Amino acid sequence: MANTKVPEVRDITRIERIGAHSHIRGLGLDDALEPRQVSQGMVGQLASRRAAGVILEMIKDGHIAGRAVLIAGQPGTGKTAIAMGIAQSLGPDTPFTALAGSEIFSLEMSKTEALSQAFRKAIGVRIKEETEIIEGEVVEIQIDRPATGTGAKVGKLTLKTTEMETIYDLGNKMIESLSKEKIQAGDVITIDKATGKISKLGRSFTRARDYDAMGAQLQKRKEVVHTVSLHEIDVINSRTQGFLALFSGDTGEIKSEVREQINAKVCEWREEGKAEIIPGVLFIDEVHMLDMECFSFLNRALESDLSPVLIMATNRGITRIRGTNYQSPHGIPIDLLDRLLIIATSPYNEKETRQILKIRCEEEDVELSEEAHTVLTRIGMETSLRYAIQLISTAGLVCRKRKGTEVQVEDIKRVYSLFLDEARSSQYMKEYQDSFLF
Ligand code: ATP
Repeated sequence: MANTKVPEVRDITRIERIGAHSHIRGLGLDDALEPRQVSQGMVGQLASRRAAGVILEMIKDGHIAGRAVLIAGQPGTGKTAIAMGIAQSLGPDTPFTALAGSEIFSLEMSKTEALSQAFRKAIGVRIKEETEIIEGEVVEIQIDRPATGTGAKVGKLTLKTTEMETIYDLGNKMIESLSKEKIQAGDVITIDKATGKISKLGRSFTRARDYDAMGAQLQKRKEVVHTVSLHEIDVINSRTQGFLALFSGDTGEIKSEVREQINAKVCEWREEGKAEIIPGVLFIDEVHMLDMECFSFLNRALESDLSPVLIMATNRGITRIRGTNYQSPHGIPIDLLDRLLIIATSPYNEKETRQILKIRCEEEDVELSEEAHTVLTRIGMETSLRYAIQLISTAGLVCRKRKGTEVQVEDIKRVYSLFLDEARSSQYMKEYQDSFLF
């Protein structure tokens, strides 16, 4: 554990975030926590956004421990969007992990392992490292020819700053960096003392004024901050998995000893001021798909010090708890229900559907004529919001293929006939089911 490696893998999370909810940038509340009709990509759903705002404040004040949130409402009423809005309002580094209850049963690992991984993906660790940076203008570079037989190159670099001239002994790494960045005398450079990396800032301070303006100093301390998730640290340090598993997603099961060691290490870093824990948001959709074993795991996990904010969603009312013969509200056992703050979402009216579709068109960079927008809104109202959203990019593609710049009613009609919504698809299956039977 001494040399726990922590590469920066933030881009992976960022890629996951682009998609159906990329237009959501927060909950769209004012300073008094009142929701604005349209703000930060959010439209309507005022009562639930107001409630989500209160929860957000509780999270910020650290008053959410041991509890979780349940968002109940029909499909496509913004349950995921609200969870995402909460995560976004918590700050850009806050991890957001989403999974559907049913996914847990299809993964090639135990249900509780899948849940553990999801919990740990939703906890960020912000690691601070200090490195010394030297900045100045290159006066002279001397590189000695390598002695035969040894690959090592040596040399000297004379650097000038406002106060003084300093000479640096160059090692192989620095020489490579010099040639890669094509650094010559007269360039302004920085040297990272920890890595030996030399970077070019620009050309010489030919005028004294520029030199001062750059505020060149001989040495500065710079803080470098990486944010990774606990799960990423687990995978990197798991002897059986290794770092590449992060990219394939095939991380398998992680031993509990590894997790315990990581927890201890992270606590140590935290005490030394080297790391900060950022509890993120874990969103579990279709929570009624979970069974008793999963629910008792959740109950226990919520008690832990290292727990993210758990937001669950369901579109079921009273239903059977999976794997039992008991009925319960949302298919959730009473002891867990007791810990939940419940928010309800309701269906959108025509004006709101129109606004959401407009925001999605802007997000996907597709222009719609007024009439096409009206038709798409009607489709959204009659089928589902999500279906209408899916037609945007497909209609945009059809429009580009005919070399148009603005999606017209014809393009919408075309994709509406090409792709079935749920009702037409099941109607089709019903009509033709005989021919699907052997
Ligand atoms: P399901 O129960 O099927 O999981 P859901 O209630 O989670 O559905 P979302 O996935 O959040 O619904 O909504 C469908 C789409 O509409 C998403 O692209 C979402 O970002 C967008 N959306 C929903 N509500 C809003 C809203 N109030 N403002 C802006 N966009 C929204």
